[in-house]
Amino acid sequence: MVKLFENDAYLNQFEAKIIKIIKEDKHIELNQTAFYAKSGGQPGDKGEIERAGSKIQVLETIKENNKIIHIVDDLKDLEENCDIIGKINWDLRYKHMRMHTALHLLCSIVPLGVTGGQIGYEKSRLDFNDPDKLIDKEELEEKINLLVEDNHTVTTEVIESRILEEKPELVRTMSVKPPQVDSKIRLVRIGEVDLQPCGGTHVKSTTEIGKIQIGKIENKGKMNRRINLQLSS
Ligand SMILES: [Zn+2]
Repeated sequence: MVKLFENDAYLNQFEAKIIKIIKEDKHIELNQTAFYAKSGGQPGDKGEIERAGSKIQVLETIKENNKIIHIVDDLKDLEENCDIIGKINWDLRYKHMRMHTALHLLCSIVPLGVTGGQIGYEKSRLDFNDPDKLIDKEELEEKINLLVEDNHTVTTEVIESRILEEKPELVRTMSVKPPQVDSKIRLVRIGEVDLQPCGGTHVKSTTEIGKIQIGKIENKGKMNRRINLQLSS
């Protein structure tokens, strides 16, 4: 199964073949897909699957045993080995891409360990290990928007995972292990600003994110502080 979103996050329509249907769960597996499966704090894509003019809604996309599963509302006349057209809900996905890239920027300006995070359509958040309460909302908002305006380019590269073992400082998340496939790891680079392992989808330049508003900074336990952020549109 080819993950089309890894090489082109902007691909929102694609052709594919159904390789497996699990009828009782309304699960569909494709030979290739642009649907991102829920993982790493980024929600799964929703959208449509079309065959011969009939449309089926993709309600959720998840990962199971390293396979991408499309959960649909109805199987209609879909069969294994038939060709389909997939269309992802671009409004939803593009917002997730902008939010996701914003969280990388946030991570780059807060020199603390990341303990959790969640990307959403309306707002997103990152939790940091901040026992000394070093995080300052106004300072963050100014810094992160300067990075957006500087229009840094976002690119991906794939390296051998042993290289990462030699550079453990690249892994900013304390709880999440970076996705690893065939001893290779995908890195996401934002110009000279940020480099970290990530399997998600991002915009190609930081200006696409638009203005970022830092919301409430919440205390979550003794050590953890949660930074909420929203986009202006
Ligand atoms: Zn990412």
